[in-house]
Amino acid sequence: MSENKSVETFETSCCIVGGGPAGAILALILARQKIPVALLEAHDDFERDFRGDTIHPSALEILDELGLAARLHELPHSKIHGGSFMTPGGTLTVADFRRLKTRFPYIMMLPQAHFLEFITEEAKQYTNFQLRMGARVEELIEESGSVVGVRYEDEAGLHEVRALLTVGADGRSSRMRHLAKKEVVKTSPPMDVLWFRLPRRSDDAEGLLARNGSGHLVVMLDRLDEWQIAYVILKGSYGEIRAAGIDALRQSLVSIAPELADRVAHLKEWKQVAMLAVESSRVKQWYQPGLLLIGDAAHVMSPVGGVGINYAIQDAVVAANTLVEPLRAGRIEVRHLREVQRQREWPTRFIQRIQAFVQRVLVANVLRTDRPLQVPRIVRLILRTPLLRDIPARIIAFGLKRVHVKPSLRS
Ligand SMILES: Cc1cc2nc3c(=O)[nH]c(=O)nc-3n(C[C@H](O)[C@H](O)[C@H](O)COP(=O)(O)OP(=O)(O)OC[C@H]3O[C@@H](n4cnc5c(N)ncnc54)[C@H](O)[C@@H]3O)c2cc1C
Repeated sequence: MSENKSVETFETSCCIVGGGPAGAILALILARQKIPVALLEAHDDFERDFRGDTIHPSALEILDELGLAARLHELPHSKIHGGSFMTPGGTLTVADFRRLKTRFPYIMMLPQAHFLEFITEEAKQYTNFQLRMGARVEELIEESGSVVGVRYEDEAGLHEVRALLTVGADGRSSRMRHLAKKEVVKTSPPMDVLWFRLPRRSDDAEGLLARNGSGHLVVMLDRLDEWQIAYVILKGSYGEIRAAGIDALRQSLVSIAPELADRVAHLKEWKQVAMLAVESSRVKQWYQPGLLLIGDAAHVMSPVGGVGINYAIQDAVVAANTLVEPLRAGRIEVRHLREVQRQREWPTRFIQRIQAFVQRVLVANVLRTDRPLQVPRIVRLILRTPLLRDIPARIIAFGLKRVHVKPSLRS
């Protein structure tokens, strides 16, 4: 940080670093409870292309409990009611959300920027909420073994925020996790993902479609007039694919999804393609005195099942459920922070195990072969047996268990 700028200091009860889904939802719930809260976001806006745009039934139920689901649905969005794998033997339905018991039997596809603007606009109604954009946190302030706030720099200069509780919700490359020297347990997903968009026609198939061929997996997500396409590649092979040229990518795509032949020309240059280096990790201890990590800062999720946003939102709700009263009382103890990890660690480990299994058994095999996937008989049987077939949909929709906003925090 620069040495000769003056330092502005302000105090709040809870300082949240990172205005992603985890930080924004936690800030909103605290703001509604009249708890002084500051949300610090490094970027000047929420625009993000190809971030998680999937809001699953679990998160929609939470937004409903907060009284926001109806208005959220007024924003332009599409709905995915299920997912299918297309194999030589026919289409295999992997998840049908319509059969789940929920008011929201679909995945809502909404640009993450619109979601975050919506949530932070709600929070701005409360004078005890402060949103600081362009505020990149660089340092923790520690006193007597506790984190008591952070220092950040923006265009106006240096700032210190002092808080009873600091929350690191600053995503997969978390600076807070790094500053707190947290030990991270990592696994090695076998893939990376290239994201891009192509036009979608009204007579195209609907929902989420997956299929493989020529050593790649292609997942197509229905976004009304566009397909959002995930082209899954072997980990570390992006350089090779790029060197082969965009035309080779177009040809490979058409060989796997021939119906895209009439529009693949829209993919003209590499800047239309975003590369996601897939990671999966979790920190061993999500807290220390005065500091809690949530969302991707605590656990980076693989894109399998697209659960990252929903787990981030569930973490935020559990943190709010657990911490509102201690924050109101002005006393946050380590046991309160430990309780958040206790409630969220197992659901996270559970889903990460399942993702690792799918990556090992399905994705890694698909990426090693040029032939269309032969789905094992046992998997076909499960997906056709009434009592078992909805297990994948339930796991994707809700995770290990549903999280609810405490009734006292709903208004
Ligand atoms: C390309 C891509 C595609 C994805 N697709 C999906 C999907 O389809 N479905 C899904 O559920 N998930 C998806 N994910 C994952 C999903 O985006 C994350 O799991 C989710 O956003 C995590 O939420 P979060 O609030 O924990 O962190 P983030 O959303 O990462 O938010 C962290 C915020 O902290 C800010 N920040 C970082 N450092 C600092 C700092 N030092 N000071 C202040 N602010 C800081 C960042 O600017 C960011 O706004 C995808 C991720 C990527 C990268």
